[in-house]
Amino acid sequence: MSLYELPPLETRKTAPNYTPEHDAPEVFGAVRSIEVILIHWWDEPQRHPTFDGTVNWLAREATKASAHRIVEDGRRARMVDDMNIAWHAGPANVKSLSIEGNPRRSDGDYAAVAAEVAVMRRKFGNDLPLAHHYDYMSTTCSGYDLARVDREARAYAAAKYGTGSGGSSGGSSKPAPWVYTVKAGDTLARIAAKYDTSVQTIARLSDVRNPNRIKTGQELKIPSKVKRAPAPWVYRVKSGDTLSGIADKFGFTTGQILRVNDAVTDPDRIKVGQKIKVPSRN
Ligand SMILES: [Zn+2]
Repeated sequence: MSLYELPPLETRKTAPNYTPEHDAPEVFGAVRSIEVILIHWWDEPQRHPTFDGTVNWLAREATKASAHRIVEDGRRARMVDDMNIAWHAGPANVKSLSIEGNPRRSDGDYAAVAAEVAVMRRKFGNDLPLAHHYDYMSTTCSGYDLARVDREARAYAAAKYGTGSGGSSGGSSKPAPWVYTVKAGDTLARIAAKYDTSVQTIARLSDVRNPNRIKTGQELKIPSKVKRAPAPWVYRVKSGDTLSGIADKFGFTTGQILRVNDAVTDPDRIKVGQKIKVPSRN
C-alpha cells in the first residue's frame, strides 16, 4: 500500500465557538492539557453529510460546537487551533484534541483520520491515546474502529517520520524539535522572532535552502529547547527522569513545576508514565 498523501490544510473557515487556552482555568477549573485525541464522525452515516456542509456548520456561531479538524479522504480543515479548546465532548474538552471524520468510513477516510492522528502525535507525543466521544458522553459517535486508526497512524508515522512505536528514545538526549506549519503571510524572520530563535537555526534544522522562500503549509522544525508549542502541556515521565531534570529541560524550577502538579506530593517520587503538567509561559 502506498503512503497516504496528506492534503493541504484548509483554513478559510474556522469555528467561532471555542475556549481560548488562557481561559481554561476559569472555565474548566484546569489548565489546558493534551492527553487524548477524540475521534468523531460528523453525523450519522445514513444522512450522507458532506465535508463542506460540516465545515459550514461548525463555522456558524449558532452551532455552539466545534472540533479541531475535519478530515476525509483527500481533504482536511482546521477549525480550531490545537492549543485552544474545541467544544466537542463536554468534560473532555480541556484535555483533548478532536478529529471529525467522514461517517462513511472508507479505507481512504481511515487513512485520512490516521494521518491526522500521526500529525498530532508528532507535535504532542507519540503515545497520545485515542478515544471515542461516547467514552465521555451519551452518544453514538463514532463508529470508527480505534484499534485500526491507531495501527494505521503508527504505520504512517513510521513510514513518513521514521517514528518508532515505542515513543521517543534516549531519555538523556535533547528533546526533538517540534514542527511548525507555515501560515499565509509568515516570514522566516517573523517565525524565528516568535519562537526566540534565529533564521539560520530554523533553516539549518529544516533544510531550507533559501530563507526568503518559504511556502504556506511547509513544515519547519523549531528547536524545542527554545520554546515549545504554547504550554501548558503534559509530559510523561520516562525511565531515569527526575523532577528537577524535567523542570530544567523546559526551563522551569522544580517549585514552578510542583505548583501546577497537585498530584505530586513528593518530588523525589515520580513514576515512569506519570503525567507532569508543564506550566504556560504566557
Ligand atoms: Zn462526536
